Amino acid sequence: MNRKKCSAIVLAAGVGKRMQSDVPKQYMLLEEKPLLYYALKTFQESFVEEIILVTGRSEVEYCKKEIVEKYRLNKVKKIVPGGKERYHSVYEGLKAIRDCEYVYIHDGARPFVDNEMLERAYKAVEETGACVIGVKAKDTIKIADENGMVDYTPNRDLVWQVQTPQVFRYGAIKEAHEIVMAKENILITDDAMVYETAFGKSVKLVEGKYENIKITTPEDMGVAATFLKK
Ligand code: C5P
Repeated sequence: MNRKKCSAIVLAAGVGKRMQSDVPKQYMLLEEKPLLYYALKTFQESFVEEIILVTGRSEVEYCKKEIVEKYRLNKVKKIVPGGKERYHSVYEGLKAIRDCEYVYIHDGARPFVDNEMLERAYKAVEETGACVIGVKAKDTIKIADENGMVDYTPNRDLVWQVQTPQVFRYGAIKEAHEIVMAKENILITDDAMVYETAFGKSVKLVEGKYENIKITTPEDMGVAATFLKK
């Protein structure tokens, strides 16, 4: 297969307030290895050619010694400090890439990304230029108003929970960040929103897995340990 060059940005900056822990969640141990190791390993063993790791400024050295060098993750070419919001961190990662066709943007707090997801996303990004991994909502979702009253109930067949990786043509997502960062007072919670806001274009949804959870609160670590044993 004549594959185009893919890079990955793995995000591990930010404080993760909901974990209520002194150790940032991405470094908490899961089967004796830092949580962040698992996503990095999947990219290391995939067709992705280069990984940019984005961490807190004070964690760059720790990541270099205790994760990248210790586990011989030689595709990690740069470790760069992140920014205030997630999309600022993404932009720091984008700037650290010299050149590639497609970029996979992934939360380091999602240890269960696998090669099947990476392959599905590759196919979709080749077809559409922008895609996000997600799963169909199992629960009915209600949209609330400011008073905590149900405003409306969307058709569950059309409701997706979006995960990462989110994959884009490199040039397009870099430009999208530049457009969006020039605006004021915007609420951005994922990469697809940056693309949608900048270009008004839609993004392809690609089936992920329910196991591809983001470790957010303390009970998620127990769930992750169970998944890992499987
Ligand atoms: O905080 P949240 O769970 O939404 O973070 C999702 C991912 O984005 C995590 O992997 C976190 O490390 C990363 N992040 C970041 N820079 C920020 C905020 C979050 O790299 N400023």
